[in-house]
Amino acid sequence: MTIPTVYLVGAGPGHPGLLTLRAVECLREADLVLYDKLVAPVLLEYAPASAEKRCVTELAEHHDDRVLPIHDSMIAAARAGKCVVRLKGGDPLVFGRGAEEAEVLRQAGIPFEIVPGVTAALGAAAYAGISLTHRACASAVAFVTGHENPTKPESAVDWKALARFPGTLVIYMGMSRLDRIVATLVAEGMDSQTPAAIVQYATLGTQRTLTASLGDLPRRARAEGVSAPAVIFIGPVVALRDELAWFERRPLFGKRVLVTRPKQQAGEMVHRLAEMGAVPFVLPSVEIRPLSDWTAVDNAIRTLPQYDWLVFTSANGVNAFLGRLEALGLDMRALGNTRLAAIGPKTAEALTAYHLRPDVVPARFQSEDLAAALIAYIQPGKRVLLARADRGREILKELLEAHCLVEQLAVYSQVDAVEPDSELMDALRRGEIEFVTLTSSNIARALLGRLDATCRRRIEAGEIKLVTISPVTSEAVRALALPVAAEATEATTAGVVEAMVRLVRE
Ligand code: SAH
Repeated sequence: MTIPTVYLVGAGPGHPGLLTLRAVECLREADLVLYDKLVAPVLLEYAPASAEKRCVTELAEHHDDRVLPIHDSMIAAARAGKCVVRLKGGDPLVFGRGAEEAEVLRQAGIPFEIVPGVTAALGAAAYAGISLTHRACASAVAFVTGHENPTKPESAVDWKALARFPGTLVIYMGMSRLDRIVATLVAEGMDSQTPAAIVQYATLGTQRTLTASLGDLPRRARAEGVSAPAVIFIGPVVALRDELAWFERRPLFGKRVLVTRPKQQAGEMVHRLAEMGAVPFVLPSVEIRPLSDWTAVDNAIRTLPQYDWLVFTSANGVNAFLGRLEALGLDMRALGNTRLAAIGPKTAEALTAYHLRPDVVPARFQSEDLAAALIAYIQPGKRVLLARADRGREILKELLEAHCLVEQLAVYSQVDAVEPDSELMDALRRGEIEFVTLTSSNIARALLGRLDATCRRRIEAGEIKLVTISPVTSEAVRALALPVAAEATEATTAGVVEAMVRLVRE
């Protein structure tokens, strides 16, 4: 048996988008992923669901280098024919011990590949607007470890030379020794007025950047509570940051936002929020489940030609109904001439994925708007099938019934899913989350109905802001005697994010 290649892969500085394509290719092949603590958990989703994912940082800290269990795991798994990805923060060869791991593999006769990653210095520089080199003031850059005690004579770092370095210094792992590093550099002749910066949690919504003169940096870091993981920049380029800082100017930068949609559907909102610089947290408040009894749906599918219209009020409904149709061994021809309606753009998009184009999508995306749009189209007396969740508003059915023959069909099940003891509920209680997004009345009731007095008080005081998707959802919030901070003008996730941006700008 040939032994598969072990991949030593750089995961980048934190932002999930800063992973290389090669890293994704390797992860897709993985049977075993050995990852470091600082690696973003979403990156593990590139590996197959069946792959084993093991966090190894804690293990490593307590063991002698020679018997590192990481090395043993890598070698044993590779010899057993498994594809191993060793996923490391930043770049594997920049203060990452990648060389040691490669050496161990080479000695064991196991082939390996090294996949570079965006190292923390590069990530932090880009996201904080610090040009590492600059034609006017920095012709060189040095990456330095601050892990060693600079006052010890046997320190492997030549601080005397670095004090005279003609360019930008970037210090990794330096926060616990910041005082001594600064004192040493100044004692060796570096100007204490040299511009300096600390970037913590670089590339993430939690990023914090502190700028000060070199001499003042330790005091300011203490005062403002900036600590590891962080990189320290020293050099004249730091002074140009104001012109280049873009990330920290994003409209929702640093805002902590709770996304309450079902897990499978939270992705788009999480992505939009992250694009705006926010820090999204997902706490699914309702859950989508397949029906336990398909009899009614199967009957409807088998008699589809008798319906003139098939109306969908959610992407879930589309996927459940058409998914079932396919599971029965049928294809889209079963729809025949049945006309299709979708309540909004996401529902229409779900239809498009099945190569179907809705005949009607209203200009606004609530049941009332859909009913009005349909009544304009549907001739009186026609048969309409409403495919929807097993709970929800009856208004669409009621409005249409005056006009045509309506049958309502539950095609998926929706249940409340709030875990009152979850970590995120605690974060809400502690006031660590500023915005809560509510994208349906059911979600609003499921979440708000579970809040304790502390959370309610924070909402009433405006410390937690509720942002809703539509007037109907706002109504559900007010029915629970809580205030709505902002409401989307367009009933979509994009609309909710926009409402939040408006609120912050005010
Ligand atoms: N191989 C990694 C470095 C590992 S050493 C790389 O190439 O980036 C760990 C140090 O990296 C931390 O102490 C900190 O100085 C830096 N670091 C890693 N991720 C960081 C981040 N998101 N923001 C700021 N510093 C980070």
